[in-house]
Amino acid sequence: MLHVVRKKAFCKVLGPGTRSVIWFHGCTRRCPGCIADTMNAADEYESFTPAQLADWVKSNTGVEGITLSGGEPFQQPLDELAEFLSLVKQDTDLSVLCYTGYRYEEINEQKSMIPALQHIDVLIDGEYRQEEDLKQRWRGSANQRFHFLTERYRNQETEWNAAVERQIEMELTMNGKLLISGVPSKDFINKLTAELQRRDVNADFS
Ligand code: SF4
Repeated sequence: MLHVVRKKAFCKVLGPGTRSVIWFHGCTRRCPGCIADTMNAADEYESFTPAQLADWVKSNTGVEGITLSGGEPFQQPLDELAEFLSLVKQDTDLSVLCYTGYRYEEINEQKSMIPALQHIDVLIDGEYRQEEDLKQRWRGSANQRFHFLTERYRNQETEWNAAVERQIEMELTMNGKLLISGVPSKDFINKLTAELQRRDVNADFS
């Protein structure tokens, strides 16, 4: 089963166009300054078969693609991750972006990771480093690289690498929880968290 902490049908701040975003549960890398630590620590997640998750993606009419985040997508059951992506790509033209704390070279050396990698259009690799946070678009820190693995967005490589405007989306759920999507800086998270705690609001950053 694939373990998902959160999914968002329509998101405009984690890749081009409107995208369905899936935040997978858990990452053992524990990088200092990780902005997704709520995804790593949360013991509440939903489990999906590859087919169930692909059906959810396909029900989100009008999206340009999907973005995988976490947590660490490549620490999910790899055969199921590959099957999920294969099902998504099978009869759609949805693009696939994937954030990972691994370096591209590490993934390429792991035979078990290759089947999932083959379905990804753009891999955004490397862990978040607070000291290298330059507020670039779609990247948490400057060490993270876009790897254009297919032709899908390759002609936008220069633009993607140069873009520095960063946006986030905030939603308040009916049970009073604030959900934040995007790649907010650690500084921003710390300040906002302190303010929200003062006001007794539960926030979830991803
Ligand atoms: S690899 Fe990414 S999600 Fe995992 S601990 Fe590091 S920054 Fe956080």
